[in-house]
Amino acid sequence: MTNHKNKNKPAVSFWESEQTTLFMDEKLNENICVDVAIIGGGFTGLSTAREILKDQPSLRVVVLEADYVGYGASGRNGGFNMTLFGLEPEITLLRWGKQRTIEAQEYTIKAVNYVRDLVDEYKIESNYEHPGMVRVAYSDAQLKRLEGSVELFEKLGVANQYELQSQDEIQQSVHSPKFRAGLYEKNSGILNPYKHVRELKRIAEECGAKIYENTPVIEVKRLGDKVTLKTKSGTVSASKLVIAVNAWSGKIEGLPKIKNRQIPIWTSQVVTEPLSDEQWHEIGWMQRQSIEDNRQLIHYFRRTVCGRFTMGGGNVGFPNKYSMTEIDTTKVWQGLTDHIGWLFPSLKNVGIDYRWGGPVSVNLDMTPEIGFIDDERIIYSTGCIGHGVSLTQLNGRTIADLVLEKKTELTDFWIINRKAIPCPPGMMGTGIVRAIAGGLKLWDKVEERKLEK
Ligand SMILES: Cc1cc2nc3c(=O)[nH]c(=O)nc-3n(C[C@H](O)[C@H](O)[C@H](O)COP(=O)(O)OP(=O)(O)OC[C@H]3O[C@@H](n4cnc5c(N)ncnc54)[C@H](O)[C@@H]3O)c2cc1C
Repeated sequence: MTNHKNKNKPAVSFWESEQTTLFMDEKLNENICVDVAIIGGGFTGLSTAREILKDQPSLRVVVLEADYVGYGASGRNGGFNMTLFGLEPEITLLRWGKQRTIEAQEYTIKAVNYVRDLVDEYKIESNYEHPGMVRVAYSDAQLKRLEGSVELFEKLGVANQYELQSQDEIQQSVHSPKFRAGLYEKNSGILNPYKHVRELKRIAEECGAKIYENTPVIEVKRLGDKVTLKTKSGTVSASKLVIAVNAWSGKIEGLPKIKNRQIPIWTSQVVTEPLSDEQWHEIGWMQRQSIEDNRQLIHYFRRTVCGRFTMGGGNVGFPNKYSMTEIDTTKVWQGLTDHIGWLFPSLKNVGIDYRWGGPVSVNLDMTPEIGFIDDERIIYSTGCIGHGVSLTQLNGRTIADLVLEKKTELTDFWIINRKAIPCPPGMMGTGIVRAIAGGLKLWDKVEERKLEK
C-alpha cells in the first residue's frame, strides 16, 4: 500500500509508518533575532546546528522546517551510509582529475566514519549496522567496469578498502542467479533514516538549538548586515543563514542564485512484507551487506531489521522544481517489484507492503556543492544526489566551520565555493537533466541487452 497522511503530500516512507506518534515542535509565532538561522530540518540542517553549538554553546541557533523533521529525503532514504560521491568514481576522475578524486574519496571515507562515530558517541537509536556494501554486476560489460573501478582504486591508493568477488563468491553469499560479480567495500553501513533524523533533532535540541516545525520560509531578504526570513506567522532576523533545503532550493524566494543551483529528481522505493525464515534461507544474505547494482540508474537494496527486503532506484521522475508536487510513480514501483522477482525467483509473488519516494538534489555536473550567496553570511548546500546520508552529515560539520569562520581541512575541500554550472531556469534545466537521465537509461539498455528478462 501507499501511505498518505495528506493526499496532497508524498506517501510517507515505510520507516516513518513504523513510528506510532509524531510530536511536532511548535511553529514560529513571533518575530525573533538570532545569530544563526538554518532553513531545512534534514541531515544537513540538524548536523550544522549541532556542530555550531558544540563549538559555541552561547550562540542562538534556530532551525526552521517547513513540515516536520524527517519529511524530506533524510527521513525517507535507503539508509546506506556509504562512500559514493556524485556518480561513479570513474566519472569524477574524468571530470575533476586525479587529485580531486582522491580528495573526494578521502572526504567520503571520513563521512562514513563520522556517521558511525556519531551513532556511538550519542547512542543514536537508528538500528545502525556496519556490514559493508557490494556493487554487483549483472552483465559482462558491467563486470568490466567493476574491474576498471578496482584499477582506479589502486591508482588512487585506496584499493585495500575493496575486494573483487567472483560469481561463485558473491552467489555463495547472496543466492541470486543474476549476479555476475561483486565489488565488496567493507567500510559501509546501514541505518533506519527516519529514526536517525529524529535522533539528530533530539541531539540538536539537547545542544541548545531551537527547532520550529510546520514553518515554511517564504522569502529571504538582506536588510543591512542582517538576513530576514519571512514565514506565515513570524519573522527571523539572523546574522548568518544556512540554506539546507536540498531539492526544495528552487522554491526559496528572494535569492535568485539558490533557485538555479539544482534540479529535484524523484527516486522511489518499495518494501516487501516480512519474509519467512525459509524465504531468507533460500536467498542467503546472512552477512546483511547492502547492495547496489553497477548500472547507471542504479537499484539499491538491503535487508531491514524486521526481516523485510527493500528495493529502490531504477527509473527516476522529475517533479517541477518550483512547486515540488508529487509525481505518479506507479510504473517505477512496479519495475522495482519486478526487479526483486527477477533477482530472486523465489520472491516472484512476494507481497509489497509499502511504496514511497522522495526528491534528491541533482546539479548539472552531478557533484555536491557548498556555496555562498553574495558574501559568506549566507551558505547553501545542494547536489548530493542519492548519496547524501554520509556526505550531508559531514557537510554539517564543514558548514559549521564556515559559519564560525574557521579555516580547517574540511573547509579546504574543493566542493566549497566551487564554480558549479548553474541550471538554466524554467523547463530548460529539467530538460537537460532529463536528457542526461535518458542517456544513462540507454547506456544500461546497451549493457544489459543480452541478459535474460
Ligand atoms: C528515496 C531516497 C533514497 C535515498 N537513499 C539514499 C541512500 O541509501 N544513501 C545515501 O547516501 N543517500 C540516499 N538518498 C539521498 C539522501 O537522503 C539525501 O542526500 C539527504 O538526506 C539530503 O539531506 P538534506 O538535509 O540536505 O535534505 P532533506 O533531508 O531533503 O531536508 C531538506 C528539508 O528542508 C525542508 N524545507 C524545504 N523547503 C523549506 C522551506 N521553504 N522552509 C523550511 N524548510 C524547508 C524540507 O521539508 C526538508 O525536510 C536517498 C534519497 C531518497 C529520496
